[in-house]
Amino acid sequence: MNLINLEEFEQYIKENYECIYELDTDSISQELPGICDCCKRDVFLKVYSKSYETPYYTDTNLPRFINIYIECPNCRKKSFLQTVQFVEQIANVNGNSRTYNYIHRLYMLYRIPVSNENYINEDIPSEYISLKGTASEADYCLANSKFLASAILFRRAIQILVKDILGAKGNSLYKQLEWLKSNENTLKIDLSEVFHENAKIIKDIGNQGAHPDEDITLHEFTKNDAYGLHDLFLSIIHEIFVKPVKMKALQEELKRSRKLK
Ligand SMILES: [Zn+2]
Repeated sequence: MNLINLEEFEQYIKENYECIYELDTDSISQELPGICDCCKRDVFLKVYSKSYETPYYTDTNLPRFINIYIECPNCRKKSFLQTVQFVEQIANVNGNSRTYNYIHRLYMLYRIPVSNENYINEDIPSEYISLKGTASEADYCLANSKFLASAILFRRAIQILVKDILGAKGNSLYKQLEWLKSNENTLKIDLSEVFHENAKIIKDIGNQGAHPDEDITLHEFTKNDAYGLHDLFLSIIHEIFVKPVKMKALQEELKRSRKLK
């Protein structure tokens, strides 16, 4: 039995999913290089086990689906990766003889975390439901190679933070960010220069995603672009929700131990 639209299927996968592994043998080693979807570090993911599924195994033209169980050496989060493998045959002609090389490429279709995850969301207090929801969707898009969508969502998350949580006034994100520079915010946090710079970059890049630029070279969002935005966003979340709490606790501890009033 032939899969009639194999080419179409392959094209669709290549356009929508990320190639996570490319090698000249059929076997997958004990480690997969990649970015951990939870802590976002560039690591060698430890491969625990693999399983192979070949529908209609009598037809060698059909792609193979491979499930891989991995663990991040940094944060120890475990995940299942569902991947599809395409094999490209490359002929080497040498005089009358002809040999073949095969390149095996693995595209990641889904990643299913074993336990609850997401570093950003751990740092956002639970009462900020809307911010948590948007950050979680941005993170989901990132993990599933939807870089344009994640850029737009990080911008949306910044606006929720700035307008709804920090209480900035103004009818555009630009004006709200300007307002924050000269007014005290609802959480009374002394915002740093880096906060203002990072928020502006996320706004500008998110806008490029939402409103296609005249410059066609800016239409595509790379993995680096999207992970860069993630890191800036994480630093903002840290500044607003993590640093002040840690600082307060440290001050209280010192005051108590040194019997300061
Ligand atoms: Zn990790």
